[in-house]
Amino acid sequence: MKDNLYTIPLTDAFTAHDECPFCFIHRTLEQDAISFTLGASYMEDDIRAETDHLGFCKDHYKKLYDYGNRLGLAFILHTHYQKLEKDLDKLLSSTELPSPGFFERMKRSTPASSPTTDSLHKQLDSCYICERIDRNFTRYMETFFHLLQTNDEFKALFLNSKGMCLEHFTMLLEMAPSQLKGENKTFFLETSKKMMKENLKRIEDEIGWFIDKNDYRNASAPWKNSQDALPRGIQKLAGIYVQDEPFKKAH
Ligand SMILES: [Zn+2]
Ligand SMILES: [Zn+2]
Repeated sequence: MKDNLYTIPLTDAFTAHDECPFCFIHRTLEQDAISFTLGASYMEDDIRAETDHLGFCKDHYKKLYDYGNRLGLAFILHTHYQKLEKDLDKLLSSTELPSPGFFERMKRSTPASSPTTDSLHKQLDSCYICERIDRNFTRYMETFFHLLQTNDEFKALFLNSKGMCLEHFTMLLEMAPSQLKGENKTFFLETSKKMMKENLKRIEDEIGWFIDKNDYRNASAPWKNSQDALPRGIQKLAGIYVQDEPFKKAH
């Protein structure tokens, strides 16, 4: 288990007392990947071959555009177009519209897939930035399970955290069976479920007070923790930081 590389950023993420330490990690990895992609790396042949092949997802086209370095992005897109056109030439030359079977015809709204549309979906779903993030993100999750079982200080950080967002909670539940054994598995399952429920209730109450606080009768009442309940409430559900300004190249 490679401890050092992932342990410190993971501990920092838990110390930040964010609504989800894994969203916190994900944001850092994403910003690193964007800076890397639009840094000098796009002039390197092996990196460009990957971006040519994978392209980017909707979310990351937007974030790359917002980052700055439009000329760099133009270089990346230009050769991605060339690769895509070549691939499509091959792919579309053999395309026939699929003939739907009896049942597909009955359910008219069912999309008719074919090897061509499968390949197109694969292209649409692939993203160089997402892949770069995923490679490291899994390592962080593995490190989390490792530290939970071996490091009491980290275990205390976990217990004092605000839990996870729903998306990363789901991912942890999926990984837990292969990462934990016996009583550690039971401990994690019971604790994380309890934390999830308590923290959803906490945010529900904070959003409730946000609504009440907007009533003129509560004008002089304290905000308590509700002033930013909305962005935190959205993060807890969807794993995104709606309040963040676009991430831009430092000048
Ligand atoms: Zn999260
Ligand atoms: Zn992406």
